[in-house]
Amino acid sequence: MSDSRVIIIGGGLAGLAAAVALSSRDVPVTLLESRPRLGGRASSIIDQETGQTIDNCQHVAMGCCTNFLHFCETIGCSDLLERQRELYFIGPPSESGPSPCVTFRGANLPAPLHLASSLAAMPWLSWSDKLKLGFALRSLARLPESAPDEPFATWLQRHRQSPAVCEHFWHTVLVSALSETLDRISLKHARKVFVDGFLLNRTGWEVTVPRVPLTTIYDEHLTSWFREHQTDVRLKAGVKKLIETNGVISGVELRSGETLAGTNFILAVPQNLVAGIVPESLAQHDHVRRLEQIQTAPIASAHLWFDRSLTDLPHAVLLGRLSQWAFNRGVTDQGHYLQVVISAAFELSTRPEADIVEQVSRELQAIWPKARDAKLLHGRVITEHRAVFSPLPGIDDLRPPQQSPIANLQWAGDWTLTGWPATMEGAVRSGYLAAENVLRRMGRAEQVLQSNLPVETLAGWLYRQA
Ligand SMILES: Cc1cc2nc3c(=O)[nH]c(=O)nc-3n(C[C@H](O)[C@H](O)[C@H](O)COP(=O)(O)OP(=O)(O)OC[C@H]3O[C@@H](n4cnc5c(N)ncnc54)[C@H](O)[C@@H]3O)c2cc1C
Repeated sequence: MSDSRVIIIGGGLAGLAAAVALSSRDVPVTLLESRPRLGGRASSIIDQETGQTIDNCQHVAMGCCTNFLHFCETIGCSDLLERQRELYFIGPPSESGPSPCVTFRGANLPAPLHLASSLAAMPWLSWSDKLKLGFALRSLARLPESAPDEPFATWLQRHRQSPAVCEHFWHTVLVSALSETLDRISLKHARKVFVDGFLLNRTGWEVTVPRVPLTTIYDEHLTSWFREHQTDVRLKAGVKKLIETNGVISGVELRSGETLAGTNFILAVPQNLVAGIVPESLAQHDHVRRLEQIQTAPIASAHLWFDRSLTDLPHAVLLGRLSQWAFNRGVTDQGHYLQVVISAAFELSTRPEADIVEQVSRELQAIWPKARDAKLLHGRVITEHRAVFSPLPGIDDLRPPQQSPIANLQWAGDWTLTGWPATMEGAVRSGYLAAENVLRRMGRAEQVLQSNLPVETLAGWLYRQA
């Protein structure tokens, strides 16, 4: 094994993005992943009852996820993603009849006016709420970078947002983007979602959904890509320890006892595992000690197979219910398959699975009349307890930059400082930034990180910071 190799530890999106960035620039890479497959938290399993490959949870990206989309393009799998240019919002349950469905689409107007007519069409918000919402969005976009962080609920209260608009607009968007409740979400992270996603560019909000199970992209497809690029990928190769010699990392010790030497290292494991892998001297450094304070939030997904189709919609955003997003995955050999996502699923940990399946299927059947007589053939819930880090106020003070205190060691992972929440975009950005640092150490000053979507002229003028 040549010691000029870059050794990347962790085959989630952060490690994969770093490996792709370096391999495509002819840098020799060894990628070590402890599990028998690539993809990390973006993965699939085989459901024992149906034999079908299902995702641990539907993963979606937005149009503003420029690095994630670039990553998919680089590995040649953009055609495995489908861009949804309409979002279907189902209003909260109502005593007086079926919940209205509003189609959210971009009008042919410059940002931020492109979404005004869709917001105006939401009958569950009063005109006074919509007006105050417009002012609050403007204030949010104009918030100076130096504004102190605080819980977003406090900021909303100060901006006179009613309980209805908090629940049926702010909460709806943020809980699915950040998997936390409004009282715990950082103002800075809330701002990021709305500004980048909805206000600055007409395409920022468009949602991209994979057409295939996650494992097809991040494991099977990437494995072929790595083979073509002579990247050395080792599965079931858990790293026990980084080896330090004279103040630099000189190699890794695998759980099998094997050691590998290298000159540059990228540690791309989840934040709670970092302290156990780094040398003792580094474990005491602030970069690592602060990671202990990062809290996490669970995301649950209910997987349901019915004997008939419930809806022709490809997806639906569901307001005022336990179910938050429903994704229609179409007909399979086992029935009509729907995936329902429940973010910030804190209270589900104590509820029996059958109870959750029952409530979710009841909610879906109440929305769509043709679903009333549908029979549930099979249902299950998958909960990822440490799905994402909680974007609490001050969270970014706990996230280290990609350059670790040891010159030849980079951190990568959605938990590193990227300006993004825990998302595939955040993970890919971290991998790209770590790769940039490695290239710079090799004397190659190359930009790997992709630009944000351009700020449209009207949005730039309206939202110039005070
Ligand atoms: C249920 C759920 C739903 C989500 N939904 C979305 C969504 O809709 N959109 C979105 O953008 N994001 C979503 N996310 C977040 C997204 O999946 C993560 O932000 C991203 O995948 C994190 O990638 P990562 O590489 O930073 O970490 P991980 O994916 O955790 O990768 C770390 C890797 O390191 C490996 N590893 C650990 N220890 C060792 C060791 N000692 N040696 C070698 N390897 C090791 C692990 O096995 C793993 O493969 C969701 C996450 C979950 C769990």
